[in-house]
This record gives sequence, C-alpha cells and structure tokens, in this order.
Amino acid sequence: MRKKMVAGNWKMHGNLSENEQLLTAIIPALNELRNSLLAVCVPFPYLSSVQHLLHNTNLGLGAQNVSQFEKGAYTGEVSVSMLSDFGCKYVIVGHSERRMLYSESSSVVADKYIAAQRGNLIPLLCVGETLEQREAGITQQVIQEQMKAVIDKAGVDSLGKAIIAYEPVWAIGTGKTASPQQAQDVHAFIRQGVSLQNSNVANDLTILYGGSVKASNASELFAMPDIDGGLIGGASLIADDFIAISRALNN
Ligand code: PEP
Repeated sequence: MRKKMVAGNWKMHGNLSENEQLLTAIIPALNELRNSLLAVCVPFPYLSSVQHLLHNTNLGLGAQNVSQFEKGAYTGEVSVSMLSDFGCKYVIVGHSERRMLYSESSSVVADKYIAAQRGNLIPLLCVGETLEQREAGITQQVIQEQMKAVIDKAGVDSLGKAIIAYEPVWAIGTGKTASPQQAQDVHAFIRQGVSLQNSNVANDLTILYGGSVKASNASELFAMPDIDGGLIGGASLIADDFIAISRALNN
C-alpha cells in the first residue's frame, strides 16, 4: 500500500541546542500520526545526538547525502554503513543543490541510490527541472532523463524500496510554490512512466512534493491524487510549521 510521508531537510542549519529544542517540540505533537512516515534529514555531525532524541519515537532519521563508494580513500565522504551505524533509515540523493552546486551527475546520483539500497537505506530520490527548463517546455523530458538514469542502472523494481521527491528547482527556498495542479501533473507523469514498466511498483510508489511547502499550502498540495506528502526545507526548521504540515497528511 502506498504510504504518505513528510520528511524535513534541515540542510546546513541547526546546532546542538537548537536541534534539541526543535525536536522536543515536534516529537510529542506528531506522536499520534502513526499511519504516515515521518523523518528528519539532518547534517552529518548531528546524526548521533538526533538518533538519541528520536529513540522510541515515530520520527525516522535520515541523512542528506552519502558516498556511492563503500569505503576507501575518499576524504570528506561518508559511507552508507556509517549512516547505518547511527540508525539512519533514509538518505536524500540527487537533491538539486547537490546536482548544481557539487556537479553531481544523474549517473552519480544513480550510484548513490544503488549504494543506499545495498546497505538497506531508503533513498529519497530528488528530481526536478529548473525555471529555464520549465519555460523551454522540457519539464517532462528532464524528469524522464533523471528517472531513467536511475531505472537503467538499478532496475524499475528498485523503486519498491525508494521514495521519489519531485522538487522543481525554481520552487526550492524561493517562496514560490508549484500550484497543486502543476505539481500533480508532474507527479502523475512520474507515476505513469513507472507504470509502463511495473504498474504495482507505480501504484505503491510514494512521490513527495518539495519546494516552499508551508503550513498554509500543504493541505491543498497533499489533497492531489498523486502527491503523497512533502520534502520540506525551510519550514522543517520551525516546529509549529513542521507539525502543521505533517498533520496536513490527514491521517
Ligand atoms: C528542499 O530543500 O528540499 C526544499 C524543498 O526546500 P524548501 O522547502 O525550503 O523550498
């Protein structure tokens, strides 16, 4: 059965005391949401402290990046098994900030996705077009290429153990949210594309929307038939907003 989810992407924000304050507010408020998946994806140095704060709660722990390599001379990188050591269940791969600021190609993203699954982590695979691409009318082509890069390497069945996040680049951190219909159209396109290869996997695939989701627009986005929740950046750092967005999943 398709699961709904809200995941916070803290990006490079927070510190020990702010994280504790945030989670101490969020955890009890979200305790009743037992039918959905909830997670926070935190910076590497805070994995250990957040792991302890999340112990015995319904909030899962995630990281924001991972190496495609198992181990070795890769200075500054963090492996899948290291994330597992700290109780991570999820890892974001292919976030547009990593694709654009750190030149991660779709092929590298696919390798990270495969590495994550091999180590029993659930990849949150981000796809999305830039404003120029949308204006050029090539949104579907871009999404298809990003999805194909992963499916070609990992196989369509691998999506049975993954979560997709559609994140239009022009909506991330800009305050400009895709309209529910704009997001729905791309979500449906992603699901149909997967369905051509495996309709069961497509039906069960959780596809999140990300890009300036707020407490005020979450409900109408999540009401769309192919939008199964959200990947939340800025608003995940504000306890009341993250709580309201999670409750908008309507458990
Ligand atoms: C994100 O970084 O994944 C994101 C969706 O950010 P924001 O919600 O701030 O647009």
